[in-house]
Amino acid sequence: MLSSLLRATEQFPTGRSLLSANPVILVHGGAWAIPDDAVESHLQGVKAAAAAGFAVLQKGGTCLDAVEAAVVAMEDDETFDAGRGSFLNMDGRVQLDACMMDGATLRAGGVGCVEHIRNPISAAKKILTESPHVYFVANGAERFAQEHGLELCANDDLIIPREVERLREAKQQGYLQMPDEFGPMRSHDTVGAVALDSAGNIAAGTSTGGTLNKAPGRVGDSSLIGCGCYADNLSAAVSTTGWGEPMMKLVLSKWTADRVEQGTFPQEAAQRALYYLKSRLQGHGGIILIDSRGRVGIAHNTPRMAWALSSATTNSSGIQFQP
Ligand code: ASP
Repeated sequence: MLSSLLRATEQFPTGRSLLSANPVILVHGGAWAIPDDAVESHLQGVKAAAAAGFAVLQKGGTCLDAVEAAVVAMEDDETFDAGRGSFLNMDGRVQLDACMMDGATLRAGGVGCVEHIRNPISAAKKILTESPHVYFVANGAERFAQEHGLELCANDDLIIPREVERLREAKQQGYLQMPDEFGPMRSHDTVGAVALDSAGNIAAGTSTGGTLNKAPGRVGDSSLIGCGCYADNLSAAVSTTGWGEPMMKLVLSKWTADRVEQGTFPQEAAQRALYYLKSRLQGHGGIILIDSRGRVGIAHNTPRMAWALSSATTNSSGIQFQP
């Protein structure tokens, strides 16, 4: 069934779709060498997220609401590097980035370096839906979120003992921003979701705590439009995970969506994107995408990537993906 989603051909809407579609949601929970003892929690986490997103779609909810529900489920799950339980920066603080984009209207919302928000994807969605602006950072982002109904928390509420220990070890080993930080062994658990709703529209969302021991103020690809997240009904909705700096330089999500617009199947576009990332900048990571026909693409060049897909006919998940 998954293979039919990879190849399905239906209508191809332009702008806001006037055509109905079979809803689909696809999520990822980070691409790296997920150790055997963490496989189960990653699988459970992505499956629960896909189920939460699909429940919204099944009730006729929008792709934006479905993406939010799926990403919130993973932000709330301490398994992942998003929301509570994220990596700590050099100062021992959590600084979060998130982005959401609407393929029908090209409206987008991004937050960078927020320190007091449990669910930054919800702040990103508020910006998308309620602000004339597209991107907010730090205090201003937090103020906007609070003024639009999100509760702020203490930074300590986002910190868990596992991450305090991880930071201590990283500092002891002198581990800073090493070029191969997303090679086989380094952990990165950014989360993301892409969805097609019954109205035929697509959306994408990505949320992260960034990289371990990052410099305060550092923002990666995840919250930047076209880098870690992109959506256009005319091409595809895309979310990435991995070593953010190379992905930013290649504007990888938009690059991949453009391939789909030019006629490349989403699965092939995903594989080409990872080849481009590795061959051009030695980058490692993973990518998921969906187009408005419901065709999906999943690829990673790390040993593992947690993913899950739900539609009316399919419930698939895995810790690796082989097309
Ligand atoms: N891409 C994220 C970043 O560089 C990290 C990740 O995907 O885990 O901030």
